[in-house]
Amino acid sequence: MFETVIGLEVHVQLNTKTKLFCACPTSFAEHQNTNTCPTCLALPGALPVVNKEAAIKAMRFGYAINANVNHTSHFDRKSYFYPDSPSAYQITQLTKAIVQKGEVFIDLADGSQKRIGMTQAHLEADAGKNMHEGEYSKVDLNRAGTPLMEIVSDPDMRSSEEAVAYLKKLHATVRYLDISDANMQEGSFRCDVNVSIRPKGQEAYGTRVEIKNINSFKFVAAAIAYEVQRQTEAYEDGVYEQEVYQETRLWDVDKGETRSMRGKEEAADYRYFPDPDLRPLIVTEEMVEEAKKIPELPDAKVKRYVEVLGIKRSDALVITSNKELAYYFEEMLEHDAVAKTAVTWLTSELLGRLNKAGHDIEDSPISAATLGDLLAKMSDDTISGKGAKEILDHMMENESRDIDALIDELGLAQVSDDGAILAIIDEILANNQDKVEQYKAGKEKLFGFFVGQTMKASKGTANPGKVNDLLKQRLG
Ligand code: ADP
Ligand code: MG
Ligand code: ZN
Repeated sequence: MFETVIGLEVHVQLNTKTKLFCACPTSFAEHQNTNTCPTCLALPGALPVVNKEAAIKAMRFGYAINANVNHTSHFDRKSYFYPDSPSAYQITQLTKAIVQKGEVFIDLADGSQKRIGMTQAHLEADAGKNMHEGEYSKVDLNRAGTPLMEIVSDPDMRSSEEAVAYLKKLHATVRYLDISDANMQEGSFRCDVNVSIRPKGQEAYGTRVEIKNINSFKFVAAAIAYEVQRQTEAYEDGVYEQEVYQETRLWDVDKGETRSMRGKEEAADYRYFPDPDLRPLIVTEEMVEEAKKIPELPDAKVKRYVEVLGIKRSDALVITSNKELAYYFEEMLEHDAVAKTAVTWLTSELLGRLNKAGHDIEDSPISAATLGDLLAKMSDDTISGKGAKEILDHMMENESRDIDALIDELGLAQVSDDGAILAIIDEILANNQDKVEQYKAGKEKLFGFFVGQTMKASKGTANPGKVNDLLKQRLG
């Protein structure tokens, strides 16, 4: 029996206005090589200056994961040649990163949490992009020098489920902190997966391989499963030493397998040395204060939702997994929706409809305020649950409008007035004398029949609770 050991390195593109060491904008430019200057083009003599906003955002992440935020950190040069890096080195933080030793708690399927240690989070500059077109290759340096935060975990994960749970927690956290768009398709949240196996009970770690640049949670799980099987088979066939060695591998999406890319470089291969152009990064009190502006994060939200709002932990996890969903939910409550009702209507009724229509919560045609108001109308018996669903369907198709007007227009106002309901009940009972006799003689199942007839006669607008009460009264 083997145990899987996983450690992750995640590159998060920080959403600063300008690059890490120059004043070039980080926006997507229309034209290649327009967001550039002597510094990010690495022209001789151009000097880098650290971006304060990037440092504050990395610090904010550090405080959010209970890490040590170093008031002095250093930049190092990592040398390698690649056409998209004109300086032939990357500026990064090797020995003393701005953030060290933190922790993240992941949520497991059985409802428990597990602590994953964080080795460090450091600042580094991104490279440009090589673009291959026919027989030419072009280099676009718009992205060169964009700030990245590399988040390195301890090898604390033991399954692909844990790895994915960790990535999701990290993804949600950087988005709540508003330090990155963390868009996986666009590459602003990229992940390298380190995987090894060891016989159960053995303390020493096995040999790890690193799978580079995986851009979806699904592929992370698939790549881990593939690697675990490859390494396990090698072990069982007695060729572990020959086939599993420290190397960098690629995930081949089409073939569904990992493939050797290159042997693993050792730190010495990169000729790391302190960058002589950059002084130590020293943070000020003002930066600390700014970095400590941290919104309520998922763990705290889950706790509050469960303890204060009384909703189920599993529901709280779903809602807080995405900040837009959580903020939508909280806005519904501000519009007087009852928490438990809001959960059901948000997670099943609204998300179901959005899913079908191909919308995200961000571009929901129904605003949180409107849905909150709608649920308040249901709670105070102005409309029934069925009526509320009808209004939802209507609003998905049409512009969101005044709910009162819609209730009128669709004839959904619920009748709660005793007199009006009694009038209907009396007519039904009068027309069904025989059934009334049978009911009184003990055929209690007929109660449902009377309820059904009354609801039908009211075209579904009678308040069902009231109908029940009044029928019981009339039938003695
Ligand atoms: P490098 O600097 O060469 O990338 P690190 O020691 O910084 O190597 O580790 C990189 C990542 O690999 C970390 O996330 C760490 O948790 C993980 N890791 C280290 N050893 C193992 C192992 N035996 N199995 C799985 N992951 C590992
Ligand atoms: Mg690494
Ligand atoms: Zn520049």
